Amino acid sequence: MRDRFGPGECVVGLDVGGTGMKGALLDRDLRPLFVARRPTPRGDGPDVVVSEIAAALTSLAKEAADQDLTVRGAGVVVPGIVDEDTARAVWSGNIGWRDLPLAELLESDTGLAVTLGHDVRAGGCAESELGAARGAKDVLFVAIGTGVSAAVICDGRPVVAGGFAGELGHLVVEPGGSLCVCGVQGCLETVATASAIASSYTARTGRTVKGASDVTTLLGEGDAEAQRIWDRATDALATSLVMATTLLGPELIVLGGGLAEAGDLLLEPVRTRLEERFTFQRRPGVVRAALGDAAGCLGAGLYAWRAVYDAPGTQPAESVEATVCPL
Ligand SMILES: [Zn+2]
Repeated sequence: MRDRFGPGECVVGLDVGGTGMKGALLDRDLRPLFVARRPTPRGDGPDVVVSEIAAALTSLAKEAADQDLTVRGAGVVVPGIVDEDTARAVWSGNIGWRDLPLAELLESDTGLAVTLGHDVRAGGCAESELGAARGAKDVLFVAIGTGVSAAVICDGRPVVAGGFAGELGHLVVEPGGSLCVCGVQGCLETVATASAIASSYTARTGRTVKGASDVTTLLGEGDAEAQRIWDRATDALATSLVMATTLLGPELIVLGGGLAEAGDLLLEPVRTRLEERFTFQRRPGVVRAALGDAAGCLGAGLYAWRAVYDAPGTQPAESVEATVCPL
């Protein structure tokens, strides 16, 4: 089977974020052959963003042609609510589109076969195939950055639910707390995102910090307010993870996104708080993501290759056996 797709073949993987896009040409083992980034012009509206995604795909396909590579298809992953089954970008607060047949639009613009996915679900699939969750069947992958979102993988399959599964950031962890962008008070996102941690510190002390990494630096210096805010965030995260574990029974929780760069500063208090609260639940391991910010792009490539293998006349997909180079 593998011989049917020769060394001169690749897919395009594209991870569309709120501020930037990360694209790559990926071979059958998801090794990057070429990587490119460009900004996401979200301030110009969703139509311009769609045009820019198409331009990114076209540019990557041209690069493939220049390298004498054959592009077998493209995977595009985006934030918000994404229904992979109907290939529609249902909603994005960040980019502003509503119920858009995005794969179809991109296919007609580029001539490429496009598989659409959700950025965090794709990242979770990449971590499962190639990264920190390799070999695990029941996984909760949590991406913590400007927001919090999760990929739920049960019995080896990602749970999609029309695109609505995995909104961990909107579990209420502090009833009556701060107002969330979703309109509810006290969601996890109001407490435990990188931006919430930074803005809490500034609000409490009057001192401006650039981001959560400044707060973790202050933690190391013994800053009491930084510690209080960090404890509150890790406590809220643990509260949400207890809820998710009780409902889903993951064997492994993988923490990714920018906040996971804090490493053991984040992992250790979360592990301790989970252990304090679990009674009968399955005890999941809690580990840091392995693929960093490449996870979404690699997941997009994984989707594209699966679509190639799932196409009529081909054999069922093999599991990717890869040694992934960092993008
Ligand atoms: Zn919310």
